[in-house]
Amino acid sequence: MHDPIPTVTLPSGQEIPALGLGTWNMGEAAARANAEIDSLRLGIDLGMTLIDTAEMYGDGGSERMVGKALEDRRDEVFLVSKVFPSNAGFEKTIAACDRSLARLNTDRLDLYLLHWRGAYPLAETVAAFEHLQKAGKIGAWGVSNFDVADMEELFAVPDGANCAVNQVLYNLSRRGIEFDLLPWCQARGVPIMAYSPIEQGRLVHHPELIHVAKSYQATPAQVALAFLLERDGVVPIPKSSNLRRVRENRGAVDLDISDADWDVLDAAFPPPQSKMALEML
Ligand code: NAP
Repeated sequence: MHDPIPTVTLPSGQEIPALGLGTWNMGEAAARANAEIDSLRLGIDLGMTLIDTAEMYGDGGSERMVGKALEDRRDEVFLVSKVFPSNAGFEKTIAACDRSLARLNTDRLDLYLLHWRGAYPLAETVAAFEHLQKAGKIGAWGVSNFDVADMEELFAVPDGANCAVNQVLYNLSRRGIEFDLLPWCQARGVPIMAYSPIEQGRLVHHPELIHVAKSYQATPAQVALAFLLERDGVVPIPKSSNLRRVRENRGAVDLDISDADWDVLDAAFPPPQSKMALEML
């Protein structure tokens, strides 16, 4: 038996699962489609009912694959997609959202993010997001890859403070946001969605992580995810197309790491002592 997946509260009061499913690199090869669909459906069965995709992934292929995986289970999932910055003008955002909805075979996104900052003024993208929300096509909107200065600029434009989420690179080996962005968002009740939470698989080879994991009969990936789940308002979204690893990632919720072992991990992956520019993958 697993512990239940904790929830994180959006500014609207809506609760979302604190552990979701990523889909980057999915939907790119027909030969892998069944495995990808099965892994997402298993993740949903196990309670990881938040799926993150983007129009960019596989040039729409990821959204199409998610649409197939959700064919009969759309209502079980909190569905997130992202608009490409070059599509983030007012009319273009609305058109991009319609294309995403068509590929996803649904009539609404639960959350729509600006993938990263581009040339369009933030006020214009926000106006499009607000329009889409009023039209019932998205439940909420947010941003991705926004550092503190970007968030401050965003909150200063009309309706900018309605931002529901900031999705950024965050894992044990990328702790820069702990200095300023994470507390900034926590103070305003804006959850952080942690992308590449196991550093695209690279973290599982780290000797100290392997060492700590062994003492819990756990895996390095589970400890890496537990590190994020431990933090208020942080939602890791690991991607796996492998059923065994989806189960493994789900198991991270059951881990209870001691303070002494957090200290060991702090020594191996030191928290930031000064401002670090937000990293992107
Ligand atoms: P990730 O989730 O840290 O790692 C995924 C990689 O690790 C895959 O190669 C996967 O392979 C492997 N893996 C998964 N679970 C594992 C486990 N338990 N043990 C060992 N290896 C494991 O990296 P990510 O895909 O970059 O990030 C997660 C999601 O965040 C993306 O899929 C995407 O939805 C989102 N993202 C957003 C942005 C952005 O700019 N907003 C950028 C990057 C990512 P298998 O599939 O073979 O298991």
